[in-house]
Amino acid sequence: MPDITAKMLGELIEPLRVTPGSKVTLAKDYDPAFKAGWLNRSEGEGYLQTGIELLASYQERLAAQDTYGVLVVLQALDAAGKDGTIRHVMSGVNPQGVTVHSFKVPSEEELDHDFLWRYAQRLPARGQIGIFNRSHYEEVLVVRVHPHLLERQRLPPASMRGDVWRRRYREINDWERYLLDNGFRVVKLFLNMSREEQRRRFLARIDLPEKNWKFSAGDVAERSHWDEYQRAFSEMLTHTSTEWAPWHVIPADHKWFARIAVGAVLVDTLMEIDPHYPKPEPQARRALQDARVQLEREAPKGAAPDPFEEERRRAGA
Ligand code: ATP
Ligand code: MG
Repeated sequence: MPDITAKMLGELIEPLRVTPGSKVTLAKDYDPAFKAGWLNRSEGEGYLQTGIELLASYQERLAAQDTYGVLVVLQALDAAGKDGTIRHVMSGVNPQGVTVHSFKVPSEEELDHDFLWRYAQRLPARGQIGIFNRSHYEEVLVVRVHPHLLERQRLPPASMRGDVWRRRYREINDWERYLLDNGFRVVKLFLNMSREEQRRRFLARIDLPEKNWKFSAGDVAERSHWDEYQRAFSEMLTHTSTEWAPWHVIPADHKWFARIAVGAVLVDTLMEIDPHYPKPEPQARRALQDARVQLEREAPKGAAPDPFEEERRRAGA
């Protein structure tokens, strides 16, 4: 399997990262069909496998260290491949270390709280990777495209005055900063699919019986708001790509490339955190030695006092 170096990750990720402070116009700045020129699909398979293994080993250390957590935010329009990306990229990690939550239309109880409340309930713990399949960003996307959803939130009149969206961007940025200050990295991924690719994927969902369950007529109605969504995404990327939690625009028309890109961003994040297995304190080390002595004394007649050590010695010899 091919090696992955920090330099390669850097080259792959660099063009996808939204520079904080830059003004984004999606259609002009990001090509949904982009692939890194030096990488073809069959080589890509190997890199994805290596990435998956790296993720698994980093995640084990992240859990053992129990100090940092990672929140992965996935945003996209319908059929851009959120579910498949999660399934493939996270296929190697220990399920105990990962949480996934899909956010739907908010319930009455959720609407009875401030807009970030329901997202805060689902944050990962230290040592975990938490995935938000849709996220707090819906609050500046679907809610912006459909103003009646904002009405349902029953905000007081003062909070409806002025630029609601600018204020939400600031509140989201502050919240993510707070998370980082507390040990939680926020990794933001927008799967950027073209309008034509969405049409193709919807038709596949209609034409193939095993995909019918994925299709809902509402998805086509939502598609009619395409341009409004593109504007809302562009504004979101412009105002919420920060030094502490930058956005990555993942070209999503080629699923194989999208998966490699997402894997690369995650591996890069974990490399930066660089979690370590904790070293036992002197007292705990002494307790380990005492336990070893006791277990060695319990060796039955003819058995090696420490069979594990014996095996290691033989393997090394
Ligand atoms: P899939 O269709 O692949 O199963 P999905 O994420 O599209 O996954 P759905 O149940 O189809 O899941 O849709 C969830 C819906 O909930 C989306 O249309 C989304 O825009 C909507 N939604 C999410 N968050 C909010 C919110 N805060 N306010 C209003 N609607 C929201
Ligand atoms: Mg849907």
